Amino acid sequence: MTECLFCRIIDGQIPADIVHQTERVLAFRDIQPRAATHVLVIPRAHHASLTELADADQGLLAELFLVAREVARLEQVQDSGYRLVSNVGADAGQEVDHVHVHVLGGQRLGPVARPRD
Ligand code: AMP
Ligand code: ZN
Repeated sequence: MTECLFCRIIDGQIPADIVHQTERVLAFRDIQPRAATHVLVIPRAHHASLTELADADQGLLAELFLVAREVARLEQVQDSGYRLVSNVGADAGQEVDHVHVHVLGGQRLGPVARPRD
């Protein structure tokens, strides 16, 4: 059994609230939402971070962002505005080592880089 949390979601071992999916990409709601809309977009293939994915498959990297845009449309935040975030490594606070793009919106968001309290 895989140790990776998001691979387990892809395998269906852990339930997720799926918003949208394609052959290669899955979008589901963050379990601890930090905005009115908070969806995670991940590739079905395991890549640790955006850095690794950029080396491995640039087409898939592009698809993540295209799916993020589609999620914004489905969540009806396309016109009000939204933010895409991908944490890479320790300083960014990456918790899950399976590349993911956060889609945040549905409310006025704070500054991009806010120090932890
Ligand atoms: P990051 O800190 O960028 O690695 O983001 C990881 C995100 O995964 C956090 O926002 C968590 O709330 C979210 N998360 C952790 N476990 C789950 C889960 N089982 N289902 C959905 N989201 C999750
Ligand atoms: Zn994984």
